[in-house]
Amino acid sequence: MAEMFISLTQFLIEEDRRSGTVPADLKQLIEAVAQACKSIGTAVGKGALAGVLGVQGDVNVQGEVQKKLDVISNDILIHATQWCGCLSGVASEEMETVLPVPADKPQGKYLLLFDPLDGSSNIDVNVSIGTIFSILKRPEGEGEVTEKDFLQNGRNQVAAGYAIYGPQTQLVLTTGNGVNAFTLDRAEGIWKLTVRDIKIPEQTAEYAINASNQRHWFAPVSRYFEEVQAGAEGVRGKNFNMRWVAAMVSDIHRILNRGGIFMYPADARNVKNGGRIRLMYEANPMSMLVEQAGGAATNGLIPLMDVKPEKLHMRVPVFLGSKEEVELITRYHHEAK
Ligand code: MG
Ligand code: MG
Repeated sequence: MAEMFISLTQFLIEEDRRSGTVPADLKQLIEAVAQACKSIGTAVGKGALAGVLGVQGDVNVQGEVQKKLDVISNDILIHATQWCGCLSGVASEEMETVLPVPADKPQGKYLLLFDPLDGSSNIDVNVSIGTIFSILKRPEGEGEVTEKDFLQNGRNQVAAGYAIYGPQTQLVLTTGNGVNAFTLDRAEGIWKLTVRDIKIPEQTAEYAINASNQRHWFAPVSRYFEEVQAGAEGVRGKNFNMRWVAAMVSDIHRILNRGGIFMYPADARNVKNGGRIRLMYEANPMSMLVEQAGGAATNGLIPLMDVKPEKLHMRVPVFLGSKEEVELITRYHHEAK
């Protein structure tokens, strides 16, 4: 008999019985997000056939050129989640400030943050891209949510995950009780649990960094990079391999599956902005997944999920993945202080 897989719905109900981490309204929100990811995956998959490739013509709040699919994905996520009654507002890479659920719609206790399409420079070249999301609880309060309500440490996340649109469409999710991966059965339109309790190997021989920025790096990153490049002949005493997809979702997906370290440091060029990666809807959800899978995630000095957000689109240096490597480069940063 063919292997029987359980659906995302069944998993979430059973997960709440096991761990108490998925109350009914959170389950509803996660399913609404998963539904949106299905729609985004469909749009991504049609590509030129649906006229969704290319640029929209606008520049987003980050100063980046918006691709058509950035805007389509943002709209899909908002449309799929506003109605559920489990949410009081959303925040997105593509929107300058937060979007409260309209007063005429039922309000809920959660806040949803997302990068609707991560790695969007890869869209037109048919390389894997994804959607990253983070779920927080709304602080006590009345009336419309404000940006301040969203500025919570990553430790407060009640769920986080991403969808990856690649050869397979997958959803990788944590509600604070380990990490599980679902594969979209495209024929049935159902997310099915395919990997239970993902664990990142503690040791690794793979690193991911955009080495074209090398001349802008600071000393701790250069030190680490020179040591892994020296391979078996150097202080590390083993050979390393470099991998760089340049879509964070794809790089992290590889690391969750077989280990590695992902680095996007602050460097001489981007340091005035704090780094490159956005804390609230990129670094925090990825950090929750990585820590839940037994890895580590820091800004070079402290765990990313302990960084106090100062603004919605705050950027941070990022080092995350296999524990031993993240601890090593974090130590190099402390030693260089
Ligand atoms: Mg992104
Ligand atoms: Mg994006």
